[in-house]
Amino acid sequence: MPSAFRLPIADAGQPEPVPRTKQTGPAGASSSVRTRRIRETARELLGFEAFRPGQEEATKSVVTGRDTLAVLPSGAGKSAVYQIAGQLVAGPVLVVSPLIALQRDQVGRLDELDGLDGRAAQLNSALSAGDQRAALEGLADGTVRHLFLAPEQLAKPEVVEAIAKAHPALFVVDEAHCVSAWGHDFRPDYLRLGGVIEQLGHPTVLALTATAAPPVRAEIVERLGMRDARVVVAGFDRPEIRLEAEQHADAHAKEKAVLERVTALVGDGQVPGIVYSATRKGTEQIAAELADRGLRVQPYHAGLRKTDREDTQRAFMDDELDVVVATTAFGMGIDKPDTRFVVHAEPADSVDSYYQEIGRAGRDGKPALAVLVYRQEDLGLRRFFAAGVPAEEELQQVAGLVGAAEAAGIDDGVDVRQLREETGRPATPLARDLNLLEQVSAVVLDEEGAAHPAEGAPSPGEAAAAARELAEHRERVEQSRVEMMRGYAETTECRRQFLLGYFGEQLEQPCGNCDNCTAGLAQQQPDEDETPFPPQTAVQHAQWGPGIVMRVEDDRVVVLFEEVGYKTLALAAVLDNDLLERRGT
Ligand SMILES: [Zn+2]
Repeated sequence: MPSAFRLPIADAGQPEPVPRTKQTGPAGASSSVRTRRIRETARELLGFEAFRPGQEEATKSVVTGRDTLAVLPSGAGKSAVYQIAGQLVAGPVLVVSPLIALQRDQVGRLDELDGLDGRAAQLNSALSAGDQRAALEGLADGTVRHLFLAPEQLAKPEVVEAIAKAHPALFVVDEAHCVSAWGHDFRPDYLRLGGVIEQLGHPTVLALTATAAPPVRAEIVERLGMRDARVVVAGFDRPEIRLEAEQHADAHAKEKAVLERVTALVGDGQVPGIVYSATRKGTEQIAAELADRGLRVQPYHAGLRKTDREDTQRAFMDDELDVVVATTAFGMGIDKPDTRFVVHAEPADSVDSYYQEIGRAGRDGKPALAVLVYRQEDLGLRRFFAAGVPAEEELQQVAGLVGAAEAAGIDDGVDVRQLREETGRPATPLARDLNLLEQVSAVVLDEEGAAHPAEGAPSPGEAAAAARELAEHRERVEQSRVEMMRGYAETTECRRQFLLGYFGEQLEQPCGNCDNCTAGLAQQQPDEDETPFPPQTAVQHAQWGPGIVMRVEDDRVVVLFEEVGYKTLALAAVLDNDLLERRGT
């Protein structure tokens, strides 16, 4: 790339990297110059002829020095944003990413790029001490431009110190929804990122996620301490994926429908595809049935041997399989653009997960199919609350044991194994208890997962009450997420309008490419002036507090409440009883 567009980076001879100023680099350039530089970099570095929706907007925002939350679906090229921006900002780029496999993958991709400033490195516990040191030294002497690290690395003061000395220009938080209690992927390690960003002098923050439900967005911005954050939401519409759902009365009929559907698709040459099942046993059963019908098929779940899983992945990528029948363990980090169908044999645990899972089909832009096959019972709650809400006494006991260990001078803290011995309870709920206590700032978990009392921790009784309240809130939210999944399964309106409405993107017309549209059921959403509560209106409910209108149908309105999650209200009742009030403007 032309040197004119390269910004100064510190070399080994300089004691201090060149500080970022508004005058140097694209941040100080005019908007049109900036756009040109971004496009040139994209072309030269990644061979882009055109950006995908949201990429250019997000890159431009970051290069201008503005904290940015980019909500782009899986496969929309989120990493291109920091790859391009990394060439145009005056300092190294940190990328916090939860999975070591993803970090390795990204480093590999960057290393293949010609013309990249500096090299890419990773920093995680899988590396030797020497390699970890080398990564930080590379950052310090300017040879490492992109550093990928696991969030727990930032729990080490010496790592944060070393990074601070390198004056990072951009702090990227990948899978940023992990910071949100709303998300299923909540990681307590992500909670410290906001503090680290401040310790580093608040470099520009780029938060990336594919999960866009509005409360998740708000939480990301707040918990990362993003300033004047620009939110870019784009590209959720995937018109090439046909959407269908079918309900069956019993398990047998459902399984038969899945098998027949998949066999017909494969017979039609619509390969490869993915079948998602909620259980390991389910994946093996369906895979065996499909194999009996002569399909090239493998099951995939976390309980299988690593080598078998890798073989299946490779065979899927190399077109040696018609179908993989998998739990949700299959998919993250797998990019097979010509996947032609995704069939769910059970509903996903939320609309967010469902959208992410079906989004793996048709990334080549050619027609693909997403079918949800379900029974009424599959939408029940039991599946989702295996561990349940813990009793206050149990939480109090756990908090008390952590405090007692510290008081007895045990520096290693208390881990789940010790708690099991002390309480006789199984590991899973104890791990959940520790996580809850960490989230209410009663305990701190170290890298080994052992718990220590937090500084200024509340009493075990107070901590238990707060943790229990948090768990109840979670359960209400979970419940409402399941309700939204039910809403998707059972809607008689356009399914795509339903999905996009959920993510906060409005689709003006029914899509014409879902089963309800084809059946002539879908109707146009009411115009803004035809309904008292158009989508995105901020409202207040006497009992449920503040919320946002997500969706309007003829006779009902779906509201996302901050406290209780999604609720569907009958419009007539709302109007007759003045249940909702508009807030703000
Ligand atoms: Zn439709």
